[in-house]
Amino acid sequence: MSRSQDQFLVFGSPAIEEAEMQEVMASLKTGWLGTGPKVMRFEQDFCTYKRGKHAIAVNSCTAALHLSMLAAYLNPGDEVITTPLTFCATVNAIIHAGGVPVLADIDPVTMNIDPAQVEAKITERTKALIPVHFAGRPCDMDALCDLAQRYDLVLIEDCAHAIETEYKGRKAGTFGNFGCFSFYVTKNITTGEGGMILTQTQEDADRIKVLALHGMSQDAWKRFSDDGYNHYQVVEAGFKYNMMDIQAAIGIHQLQRVTPYWQRRQQIWQRYNEAFADGPLGIPAPPEPDTVHGYHLYTLLIDEEQTGVSRDQFLVDMHRQHIGTGVHYLSLPEHPYYQQRFGWQPQDYPYAAQIGRQTVSIPLSAKLTDSDVEDVITAVRHCLKMSAVAA
Ligand SMILES: *Cc1c(COP(=O)(O)O)cnc(C)c1O
Repeated sequence: MSRSQDQFLVFGSPAIEEAEMQEVMASLKTGWLGTGPKVMRFEQDFCTYKRGKHAIAVNSCTAALHLSMLAAYLNPGDEVITTPLTFCATVNAIIHAGGVPVLADIDPVTMNIDPAQVEAKITERTKALIPVHFAGRPCDMDALCDLAQRYDLVLIEDCAHAIETEYKGRKAGTFGNFGCFSFYVTKNITTGEGGMILTQTQEDADRIKVLALHGMSQDAWKRFSDDGYNHYQVVEAGFKYNMMDIQAAIGIHQLQRVTPYWQRRQQIWQRYNEAFADGPLGIPAPPEPDTVHGYHLYTLLIDEEQTGVSRDQFLVDMHRQHIGTGVHYLSLPEHPYYQQRFGWQPQDYPYAAQIGRQTVSIPLSAKLTDSDVEDVITAVRHCLKMSAVAA
């Protein structure tokens, strides 16, 4: 299916193929829609792909983050350090788990949390650390794991962008006590809504399973099998965070294409690099040696002093050119709720604030055709008044 030039190119539109459709239909036909065998298979396949120890599927990465902090026995008032350049869910999950979020500014080149800034924010109340592998670029895990060890912090990796990401031969999400993944529609692979948690221990995996399903004891999961009726016992006040088989039906087939999709995004990424090399705009830094970048977001930096166009004007102009864009992210201290509750101010996290005010994400889905990619390039060059033909 190709898109005509005057059709809007939706940002983050997923590639959904026939196998997913058939698998969802099969679930619908059996009537087994809820948590069942397909969820189990998706957990196993994901765990194998990540070379992880234990995987629990849930209905979002937000739920994954929340449950990880509960499983870490976060106490009210415990401080959790994270980055100001992330989606609000990272910080909201800390708040809902009873913690106090503390921000540490980013490195302006990698856009990832700066370990030196983290160390400066550690107090005796610091309990956990949540790095986000921004855009799919791995954080400096040597330094962060060292901090976690020296200060006895629970390490929870927000891997919403980082399914394929590796650092020194190891997969993102297997460094921390917990690794949290998202299968939201715009993410590298999707289940519509969905998430996954990797844990290092059976004990953490068991507790998360209980918390994800109303706090009902492990045996309750057998309710979903045909072993006969089982009474369940409620052992905690849990949540309703389980994944459905309909979601896993999509995920199983998406996961099989995780590498070809990643290769396609890498190709698009390289084409963008060539196409914008001559421009007055910022493009992403190359991946660090001995890492695998997940290529989740291709972020341009629009500095009005260089480009003569403001970032927000650029967003409007791209829309007029029928190209969908994203902003990842306005730094969290820009939002009124956090300003009022925690007294955060953008200027206290200057690198995150600056990037948040200049950044624009352009389409990078594996679904894009070569002609879509050229349309994006043409639109960017047009909006920045660059010459029509890429160098
Ligand atoms: C998308 C995202 C989340 C939330 O994921 P959901 O599955 O939508 O809950 C959390 N953190 C980051 C960095 C994200 O990009």
